[in-house]
Amino acid sequence: MPVLVMKFGGTSVANIDRIRRAAKRVGVEVAKGYDVIVIVSAMSGKTNELVNWVGEISPLYDAREYDAVVSSGENVTAGLMALTLQEMDVPARSWQGWQVPLKTNSSHSSARIEDIPPENITAKFTEGMRVAVVAGFQGISPEGRITTLGRGGSDTTAVAFAAAFNAERCDIYTDVDGVYTTDPRIASKARKLDRIAFEEMLELASLGAKVLQTRSVELAMRYNVKLRVLSSFEEQSDEAGTLVCAEEEIMESNVVSGIAYSRDEAKMTLVSVADRPGIAAAIFGPLSEAGINVDMIVQNISEEGRTDMTFSCPTDQVKRAEKALLAAKDAGQINYHDLIADTDVAKVSAVGIGMRSQSGVAAKMFKTLSDEGVNIKVIATSEIKISVLIDRKYMELAVQALHDAFELDKSA
Ligand code: ASP
Ligand code: MG
Repeated sequence: MPVLVMKFGGTSVANIDRIRRAAKRVGVEVAKGYDVIVIVSAMSGKTNELVNWVGEISPLYDAREYDAVVSSGENVTAGLMALTLQEMDVPARSWQGWQVPLKTNSSHSSARIEDIPPENITAKFTEGMRVAVVAGFQGISPEGRITTLGRGGSDTTAVAFAAAFNAERCDIYTDVDGVYTTDPRIASKARKLDRIAFEEMLELASLGAKVLQTRSVELAMRYNVKLRVLSSFEEQSDEAGTLVCAEEEIMESNVVSGIAYSRDEAKMTLVSVADRPGIAAAIFGPLSEAGINVDMIVQNISEEGRTDMTFSCPTDQVKRAEKALLAAKDAGQINYHDLIADTDVAKVSAVGIGMRSQSGVAAKMFKTLSDEGVNIKVIATSEIKISVLIDRKYMELAVQALHDAFELDKSA
């Protein structure tokens, strides 16, 4: 029988009532003839509570015990979901990650999936089981310890199962009804997209549209898993939500598909560093060792052998970045006159695969911002994305103006 993967996030299994509602949706797909693999998150708020408990006992916790504790929320919902389905006369069984087994590496709290042998679950399907309810977010290390996949990791569990079982589709049930052209809380004209390409979704996911864990989209793209994001609070239908799929499956799309933003960016400038080979490596080496997520980088033209180097990173990493750079300066690895941190900036990006074949997107973006009197501080581009750093107080305005300028309220 064809396999369907259905993943229910924390708000969709937040209490017994909602678990029943989710189970009903599963029942509908079973009745259509699918063998279903259900991936569940912990009840909303549960994982945070567990994480806090660990931190309360032991600030420098043993990562193996952290995983043993924080993975447990999913065990509860998996069992409850299986019971609920059984009550509806749907043959169902729950599986914890290690029972499948979902094999990962040993990177506790951010483990990577290495293998999901399908035999055990397939054998049960053959015997008549119709639904395998699997606890998301967790696996087992080569040492036989429980691991977790990082916060939001049950999305990745779901996609990995869809790939391993060659599922027809992977439906991600959440509390929003799909992926939008931008945040509807900022631009009231934001429109739900029917389809979006994997690469666009990756850009939007990593730019702060927190619908899907970034790794799940990477995985879906690699294995060409059709991924659908939809709300568990709306009526069930085959067309609901947003389909994240390969570019080829999207007939027409706007040049720009979405406007993303990230509120908590900081701009850091090293004033007057020597302009010579190796200087960028000397600056960004220590930053990377300190775990700083450097995003945009700009080097100014040099004057008399010296230049300014500007980069952006998340606001909460500024202190750490300063420390790393100061240490490199003290060690004589780099030399700069001043280090200026501007923490009042935000990043706004236009994303769309259409940019590959159409020119003029950057020009239109800059003109729009200039018409609004918004000053651009840093620009960075990739094949399908243009990002700018601007003063944070203009972020909403910029998002709205760009959404209007690219007519994202209208479909192609
Ligand atoms: N329960 C985990 C978390 O809150 C995993 C997930 O829900 O995706 O991060
Ligand atoms: Mg999530």
